[in-house]
Amino acid sequence: MDITRKLKIAVIGGGASGIMTVIKLREIGQTDVQVFERASEIGGTWRDNRYPGIACDVPSHLYRFSFAPNPDWTHVCASGSEILDYLRRVYDDFDIQRHVVFNAEVKAATYDGGRWTLETTVGTRGPFDVVITAMGILRKPALPDVPGLDSFAGTMFHTLHWPAGLQLEGKRVGIIGTGSTATQIVSAIVSKTSKLSVFQRTAQWIMPLPNTPVSEEEKERFRRDPVLMQKRYDDLADDFNNKWAAAIVGQAPRVYAHIERTCRENLEQSVKDPVLREKLRPDYKVGCKRLVMSDSFYNAIQQPNAELVTDRIEAIEPNGVRTVDGRLHELDVLILATGFNAHATFEPMKIIGRNGLTLEDAWKDSAQAYLAVAIPGFPNFFMIGGPNSPIGNFSFLMTAERQCGYAIRMIQHMVVTGIKAVAPKADATREFNEAVRKQMGSTIWSSGCRSWYMDKKGNIASWPWTFQRFEDMMGMPELDHYEQFDEAHA
Ligand code: NAP
Repeated sequence: MDITRKLKIAVIGGGASGIMTVIKLREIGQTDVQVFERASEIGGTWRDNRYPGIACDVPSHLYRFSFAPNPDWTHVCASGSEILDYLRRVYDDFDIQRHVVFNAEVKAATYDGGRWTLETTVGTRGPFDVVITAMGILRKPALPDVPGLDSFAGTMFHTLHWPAGLQLEGKRVGIIGTGSTATQIVSAIVSKTSKLSVFQRTAQWIMPLPNTPVSEEEKERFRRDPVLMQKRYDDLADDFNNKWAAAIVGQAPRVYAHIERTCRENLEQSVKDPVLREKLRPDYKVGCKRLVMSDSFYNAIQQPNAELVTDRIEAIEPNGVRTVDGRLHELDVLILATGFNAHATFEPMKIIGRNGLTLEDAWKDSAQAYLAVAIPGFPNFFMIGGPNSPIGNFSFLMTAERQCGYAIRMIQHMVVTGIKAVAPKADATREFNEAVRKQMGSTIWSSGCRSWYMDKKGNIASWPWTFQRFEDMMGMPELDHYEQFDEAHA
């Protein structure tokens, strides 16, 4: 047995989790790692989303890799471009470039004889002993299912495809949607437009989150004192994971009551006009849909040139949006802030596992994985952001580090035992998914609203337990839930 055995490992995706995976693999001596990135630069969601006002609503001192602190965050919550700069810095500091193949979209991954071969837009690559997917969750834009979408004569785009250099000064702008993306955009552009029409299908609960600048003195204190910076990270992680996330899954009723009260008071105190206030009042429980964090949206929607349109959209027409009351909202620009399909996990990639099993067949009823990280019949295939990842409760970077840690532990196990291939057992996977379903019924996400956490069948694809449970499960793989394959390499 060779405990220094080097595996050939493919990572799909060069966003935050792909970069982190390379660093973590190298820490355990696995240096033969190739990252396949479809674009010509790294950055994932922070590279692709370039809309005005983009920022992360997880505090910056928490929204970073645990191993790469940053004393220089300029705001409580960093802007998209600041986060992208941070990722680029980590990429350079850890010399990731030599691992990445750019413009290499993976079209297919096939397991055969104990190894994976990838078909990419730059040719066939492999074989690899292990594949780790790090493709993000919100990649595939969801377009609104309204008639006439293609007939609009002005400028129309989904928020993921914000046109560079778009001028909105003096324009009549419409935006469909009132989720986290739309509310950031509305706040950022309202003062530029001559008229901004916000088409709201469902009102959102909004938690006020003041995004104040970090003073130079504070940055200097963090530069001088890494222990202080770590303490800030630990305190935020405690708040986020043990209070906030626990409240969302029903484990911290007092914290939940505080969140609920804060959102309700925010609405009461921020919106003066009682008619507008009622239009903005959700009819479902706080936290059922992903909370919007903003201390500027209510102000923006009360500007004289802004209008909240709550009549249903009947059709898109060449000159604007027609609502069911017969009114045509004339527009020059129409922004589709209609979110993403979070359940098309790997589409359009084809994945073929052991004995020719396709992922399409394995997931024909619904996308189900073992602990959100591995799939029966697909050996040595680990996912960051797989089905039932904690999308509605934890900060994604914390999730990604733990899921990556799980894959690393499985790889180490294979190396020290000499096992060639592992995949979770079907019954362990079934039991996990049954437990998820049972627990999900008691979470706030199941309390009667429609959200992007739900798949087409109404299954909620998140993690219905506490952060501690997630950390424990990711930290100690149950090896008897796996089967081993000692397959002869072709
Ligand atoms: P989203 O939360 O799914 O919101 C989509 C919006 O479009 C909803 O208001 C939805 O209404 C509306 N919509 C969809 N189809 C429609 C139709 N046919 N007619 C009218 N309205 C329609 O998407 P998102 O705002 O892009 O956010 C997605 C997630 O990305 C967030 O929940 C968050 O996790 C993440 N995100 C985070 C940040 C941040 O960190 N600050 C920023 C942006 C995004 P319904 O509610 O009725 O479905």
